[in-house]
Amino acid sequence: MIRLGKRPPVPDTLKSQKVKQMKKSVSKKIQAGEQIRTTDFRPYWRENDVKTAIWRHHHKKCCYCERKRDLKRESDVEHFRPKAGVTEEKAHPGYWWLAYEWTNYLFSCKACNQEYKKNHFPLLPNGRRAFKEEDDLSDEKPVLIEQDLTQAPGKIRILSLMTRFLRVNSASARGSRLKKGFDGFGYLRIA
Ligand SMILES: [Zn+2]
Repeated sequence: MIRLGKRPPVPDTLKSQKVKQMKKSVSKKIQAGEQIRTTDFRPYWRENDVKTAIWRHHHKKCCYCERKRDLKRESDVEHFRPKAGVTEEKAHPGYWWLAYEWTNYLFSCKACNQEYKKNHFPLLPNGRRAFKEEDDLSDEKPVLIEQDLTQAPGKIRILSLMTRFLRVNSASARGSRLKKGFDGFGYLRIA
């Protein structure tokens, strides 16, 4: 578990005109009924101010395996809610409206992000999936992370993935499908 303090202020890149333009162009595609792909998004989240800020905030550790990572090598800015598709919800276009949202970023290893997390975003059985910008994210109840209500606002607790995951797995049939997707985390950490 990594305890995070309050997230630092939104980096300048994410407030820039180019990001605003990008959001508009993706939004237009969605309105036109087009399918969004990862390559439709320019990766402004990799810009130095964004990546450095999230790296420092996460104590230089991958949010999933908690190993310390160099900023330049073996690291990604990971979209907590995937931007272009959700593995557990085939009809979902992805949380495209959060692609440049500061609070949707986590710092992770390339391996954890690209080999294991990918587009997974499982919810607990009582969670309600947000499909569009107006939907309330607080109804979702994600498996991977939770707001720690015992802490002051702004602090989040990242749970050990496997611990939480296994709890879900034993509690529901839905869980057994999740297990398949997240098997890869098994060796990393079971708290
Ligand atoms: Zn990792």
